[in-house]
Amino acid sequence: AQGAPRFRRVLVKLSGEALAAPDGYWLHPPTLAALADDIARAVEKGFEIALVVGGGNVIRGARVSAAGWIDRATGDSLGMMATVMNSLALETALNAAGVTARTMSAVSMPTICETYARQPALHHLDKGQVVVLAGGTGNPYFTTDTAAVLRAAELKCDAVLKATQVDGVYSADPKTNPDAVRYERLSHDEAIARDLKVMDTAAFALARDGGLPLIVGSVHAPSSVTAILTGAAPSTLVAP
Ligand code: UDP
Repeated sequence: AQGAPRFRRVLVKLSGEALAAPDGYWLHPPTLAALADDIARAVEKGFEIALVVGGGNVIRGARVSAAGWIDRATGDSLGMMATVMNSLALETALNAAGVTARTMSAVSMPTICETYARQPALHHLDKGQVVVLAGGTGNPYFTTDTAAVLRAAELKCDAVLKATQVDGVYSADPKTNPDAVRYERLSHDEAIARDLKVMDTAAFALARDGGLPLIVGSVHAPSSVTAILTGAAPSTLVAP
């Protein structure tokens, strides 16, 4: 879209559900391969990509702990490990798609992947490698949306692309309200004033404080990450 700023280094946040199979199985290899291909194409176009993937296709701490048999912090540990599983799967698919990807986990698992540290992550990005940031923030009671904003700020990303099921931020739920309109651009403050849920509160507050631009778009169509980043597919930009 005209006037949309061009970002170079982008943190792409995928929800775990983006990897799930239609029958509910946690991982769908064809979907994974298509996503990896899309990211590889974005890298070819000159974008520097850091990825954060959620774990909701496997486990969410709040949900399992609500059932009462496990406490929240332990449930969140399971969730963080789920993000490591998804990250390793993505790393594998990215390498198969022809880009060098490395998983760095906030929860150290030295026999499985690198432990996240800022300087090496910056070096990988400078070399055009994709870093897959696993383990969320490494702390319970947070989400991978918060991890995405935190890492984007640390790694000098120009924006966070939150890849969802919907092609942007709407004035109302587009699935239930035919009058819902998609915003082209909003400020962080406008999103709060209109009570638009772009990300969870902690993540959004961090983005607003840092003046970090957020792009919301859909990963439903093939090659959507590249299309959103090049302005060929619709999205909403939340920026100061
Ligand atoms: N999680 C956590 N700390 C973090 C990030 C994630 O404890 O910094 C746990 C939490 O239990 C969460 C789960 O990992 O429910 C999966 O992450 P998330 O719900 O953000 O995944 P998504 O909804 O994006 O698939």
